Amino acid sequence: GQGEAAVDRWVATTCGYCGTGCGLYLGVKDGRAVAVKPDTTAPVNKGHLCLKGLYEWKTLHHPERATVPLRRRGKEMHPVTWERALEEVGQRLREALAAGGPEAAGIYHGGQLTLEEYYAIHKLAKGVLGTPNIDANTRLCMASTVSGYIRSFGVDAPPGCYEDLDVSSLIFIFGANPAEMHPQLWQRILRNRKLNGAKIVVADPRLTLPARVADLHLRLRCGSNIPLLYGLINILIKEDMLDRDFIRRATTGFEELARAAAAFPPERVAGLTGVPAADIVAAARLFGRSPSAVTVFCQGVNQSSQAVDTVTLINSLHLITGKIGRPGSAPFSLTGQASALSMREIGGGGSLPGFRNPENPEHRRQVADYWGIPEERLPRRVNDINRMLELVEDGRLKVLWVIGTNPAVSLPDLGFSRRQLEKVFLIVQDIFYPMETAAFADIFLPGAGWGEKDGIITNSERRLNLVRRAVNPPGEARDDLTIISQVARYLGAGELFAWPGPEDAFRELRELTRGRPNDMTGVDYALLERLGGVQWPCPEGGRGTSRLYTGCFFFTRPEEAQGYGEFNHPEGRARLWAVPYTPPPEVPDGEFPFWLNTGRIIEHYHTRTKTKRIPELQALVPGAYVEINPQDAARLKVAEGELVRVVSRRGWIEVPARITEVVAPGEVFVPFHFGDLDPGERERRQAANHLTGRNVDLLSGQPMAKAGACRIEKLQAG
Ligand code: SF4
Repeated sequence: GQGEAAVDRWVATTCGYCGTGCGLYLGVKDGRAVAVKPDTTAPVNKGHLCLKGLYEWKTLHHPERATVPLRRRGKEMHPVTWERALEEVGQRLREALAAGGPEAAGIYHGGQLTLEEYYAIHKLAKGVLGTPNIDANTRLCMASTVSGYIRSFGVDAPPGCYEDLDVSSLIFIFGANPAEMHPQLWQRILRNRKLNGAKIVVADPRLTLPARVADLHLRLRCGSNIPLLYGLINILIKEDMLDRDFIRRATTGFEELARAAAAFPPERVAGLTGVPAADIVAAARLFGRSPSAVTVFCQGVNQSSQAVDTVTLINSLHLITGKIGRPGSAPFSLTGQASALSMREIGGGGSLPGFRNPENPEHRRQVADYWGIPEERLPRRVNDINRMLELVEDGRLKVLWVIGTNPAVSLPDLGFSRRQLEKVFLIVQDIFYPMETAAFADIFLPGAGWGEKDGIITNSERRLNLVRRAVNPPGEARDDLTIISQVARYLGAGELFAWPGPEDAFRELRELTRGRPNDMTGVDYALLERLGGVQWPCPEGGRGTSRLYTGCFFFTRPEEAQGYGEFNHPEGRARLWAVPYTPPPEVPDGEFPFWLNTGRIIEHYHTRTKTKRIPELQALVPGAYVEINPQDAARLKVAEGELVRVVSRRGWIEVPARITEVVAPGEVFVPFHFGDLDPGERERRQAANHLTGRNVDLLSGQPMAKAGACRIEKLQAG
């Protein structure tokens, strides 16, 4: 703990950064947050916090916190009253829809809000505005997992839990770097290895910390996930390391999958991935012979080309070996943002609350009746942010409301994306001013941040955790639930949002999960407080569910397998898929000879709206850089720290070179956290998304930030 003696009270809450969901206490003195200490009883982190969690409280009283609503007049933003700001937001939305129909307005929000706020936003967008233009920045991180889980299991639900990382005999880290992105989970993996001798296998183009300490590192080329996974499945089948009983009783599609995998013998896979054939065989044997296995995957999967197909094959790896639904066995996607999973639960990713299908008439009726709105108003399909920007470009989307996210830095192909932000009437709701997206705003609404509002955030293992209001928001800033409810009033729908507080909104939304895969009807704030979080499904009278699909192993006679309903496809079985393999749409060539990989680092979070304002973190890594392999650096005559220009088909950045073996020859890496302008600093063109393109996974709409092509240009002679 920091400054234990100087604190009036400690408020139990949950870290608001990554999807791990660590429990902590926020120390308050004279109405201000002054310290933090980890919660030693929290089931997730058991008394540990990473750097970001330790310093999060420092964002709360920062001088750049936004305190008043602002309205643009010419080039300048000027303070206005809440009444005027809200009235104009309501009026602009109403007028746009009246003139241009449901596609003329849209909302794009972040993945760090509370479950209750997401519910309100989606109720407003779908139930009041009736617009298909509703998406979140989770499109950039989890969209492919959503589609992949649905494809394999029939529902978007992570099957495993963190305890699996403690007890599994094999941790297969595929396109993830938990040492930097989920540090507490990495500690649990290391503890498992130390105590139980768990093996670690890593598939990653970069020599990350997990790759360095792994028992086996499969250093695949960018864009080659599919052949590698097929190669593993090929060997599992050839050497009969399968759970044939499970395949027969609980899955469909094995023959098709086996036929597709037969085209990927190790020698061919070695050619496609750059991984030695012997290592592919060794990895398959480790996986197949291990009593249990967890595959931990993240953005190296989600942001790759064929991302949904990759998730599908990871799921299949577990299904054909029966490594699911048992302690220590799961295909486990780690969410990046604190409450990305909350967003999925209430109908992000295109569904309706309770994982309802917006194209299913009965599901539509259930939601419309519950909300008391005409069913026709609910959109049948939603437009993702890529489509929304195209609609802006075509002049069809006129008013865009951005809540708690920073698309002027985080969207791909920034040249294109920023042009659309410029063009649309933009409402920005955020906790800091200035920030990059607010530079394009016509109206700015100051929101309340983490530590200033109550609500639920769901972590990667389906655990609903409470975040608590420890201090008041600064100045006139208001919490997002209040702002959304007030806008609804100006749209004539105030009665649909008349919740006295967040828990009332939660009571309303949990009813929509009754009998659904994410049933939360047994949850209330008091239970969450008592148990330190609860994992859904948690029907009335329950205490949560740590693992899904556990029932798959309980039937003993083959006839019981008929429609036992454990998986959420109508036939009750999981589906195996023979996915195609197509190389990424953009690959290195003579003009752009390097693979461009982008990603995150431990010190920063997303576009740094928070972490650049924490001196301890900002000082550690104050700017972007490009990692270049020593062989390439020697060939290009680039020295460590030398400013170089990284150029792609979309644009360029100028950043110092970091010469390191972490990247393989022919590949470069740029962290994506950095915008071009920090307050009080000179402009630097360093945002990785100047380089990335608008190619998306066709099944999920997720941009391929992990596989593009670029070149490195020297700026100085020598
Ligand atoms: Fe917060 Fe994630 Fe760090 Fe835990 S691991 S303290 S949730 S940033």
